[in-house]
Amino acid sequence: MTITAAVHAPSPEDNRVLGFTIPAHSGRGRAMRLGDTLGVILSAHDYPPVAAKALGEALILTALIGSALKGEGAQTTVQAKADGGAIGLIVCDYRAGELRGYLQFDAEALAQLSDGADLPQLFGEGYLAVTIDPAEGKERFQGIVPLEGANLCEAFQHYFESSEQIPTVLRAGVRQDETGAWHAGGILVQHLPRGEQDRERLHVADDREDWAHLHAITATVSAAELTDPDLSLEALLWRLFHEDEVRLLPPTPLSRGCRCSASHIEDRLGALPEDHRADLRDDDGKVRVDCEFCAKQFVVAI
Ligand SMILES: [Zn+2]
Repeated sequence: MTITAAVHAPSPEDNRVLGFTIPAHSGRGRAMRLGDTLGVILSAHDYPPVAAKALGEALILTALIGSALKGEGAQTTVQAKADGGAIGLIVCDYRAGELRGYLQFDAEALAQLSDGADLPQLFGEGYLAVTIDPAEGKERFQGIVPLEGANLCEAFQHYFESSEQIPTVLRAGVRQDETGAWHAGGILVQHLPRGEQDRERLHVADDREDWAHLHAITATVSAAELTDPDLSLEALLWRLFHEDEVRLLPPTPLSRGCRCSASHIEDRLGALPEDHRADLRDDDGKVRVDCEFCAKQFVVAI
């Protein structure tokens, strides 16, 4: 392989989430990168850069939440719905390393915004709903919080504080380089709830110091570090937590995935009663179904 080919070859390290624990400080977390996978997701749509960046951030946060679930068929769906801003809707979901997402925006309102637009400018007022379906017969959980804070990370932090009640710090970075390629990365660090297995310290006084320490270090992570393809996740975690004896867990590869297909849609619609199916049919007897994630229309006969 020539050096040029090596530089342009997609890096397998670019699309994965890596769990870690910091037992000495009752911490755990996940760090992740989305390289060409983000480009593939965005390529189904024609989003202006500000919108693409917002969807990238939402996808990172969805993967950081969703990758905590290991059950077969487990799925995490994130929906941000808003009025009065440039973006009206973001929907993302994560299932077994597969990510998909789309957003709806007002082109005129978006054109007025700068690259550094804050959350109120992007969304106006709205809410963030996180739905966790652990599958395997376990109960579904939904947490809804107002879409508040300076950015999406802060809005998701509110979700963890109010719905899961776990001290959590989140950072995310998304950028497009001079060749047009997208780079995205994120990190989530949490304080383990009292009494969890990995916990080694049980004194409440230590608790606050442990969390303050983890929070302070995570807050130093820059968007440049999170989106630097030359800095591996391992190297980043080592840079941050080498004095804290960080322990790495096996990584999960991330890719773009959607369940839409003509046969899947036919199976789903075919299970409906005939009078429902008749309502769905167009004049030519076919049913047209849009997949918003893929910006594709399926025409099926049922
Ligand atoms: Zn699709």
